[in-house]
Amino acid sequence: LANKTSKTVIFTDLDGSFLDQQYNYNTIKPIINHLQTLNTPIVFCSSKTKAEILFYQKTLKINEPFIAENGAAIYIPKNYFTTYPKSNKQTDQHEVIELGAPYKAIRNKMKRIAQKLKMKIIGFGDMTEQEVAQQAGLTLQMAKLAKQRQYDEPFRIVQGNPERFLKTLKEQGLTCTQGGRYYHLMGNNDKGKATALLRNLYDVEFGRVATIGVGDSRNDQPMLKQVDIPIFVQKRKENALRDTWKKIANLAG
Ligand SMILES: [Mg+2]
Repeated sequence: LANKTSKTVIFTDLDGSFLDQQYNYNTIKPIINHLQTLNTPIVFCSSKTKAEILFYQKTLKINEPFIAENGAAIYIPKNYFTTYPKSNKQTDQHEVIELGAPYKAIRNKMKRIAQKLKMKIIGFGDMTEQEVAQQAGLTLQMAKLAKQRQYDEPFRIVQGNPERFLKTLKEQGLTCTQGGRYYHLMGNNDKGKATALLRNLYDVEFGRVATIGVGDSRNDQPMLKQVDIPIFVQKRKENALRDTWKKIANLAG
């Protein structure tokens, strides 16, 4: 990066950007360990739930802010920054900045529109833990965490015209985006707005920080627009994840 004296912050998606198709990060683990020794914050910015992201944070001993459910909420460990926006909420461990709309309201709107258009839509809220596990290739334990949704509904269109459905959702003030595996329905939030807000908190705390963004799908584009160095993972290539993270380590180190 141009200014080596400034702090570097990495915003990264999880599926397809940090985790491979089998939800594994073994191939990049040494690089992640190296980045941790450099005190480079790795900020997960995912469509996954708070519960899922906390699982990965704990196994990797990462204690940094993270962005859950496609930018619907930002979780910041308590006392991480000295100042916070006034509107934030709190949990035992985190300051929480909410940007999303409630899950139940999103689901109700989705169902109403699907019914009106005579479409068949299946969201995570319609599926059992076993079904989510089987369909998404998750363990039952992870499927449980994936179903603990507060804002964003991953769904598939089983029957009906996708374009008409997506257009109607938009007219109703909802945001629909595509991740690696599912469509995602949410309120007026995206990964970009949350990234910009969190980046600003880093800037206030540390002076202008340098930011790297890592993504692999359409829902990552708003996040990639908010960082200094956007990296789009070419996941069809062999060793795509390892090569991407090697590049990041070079940039950050
Ligand atoms: Mg992804």
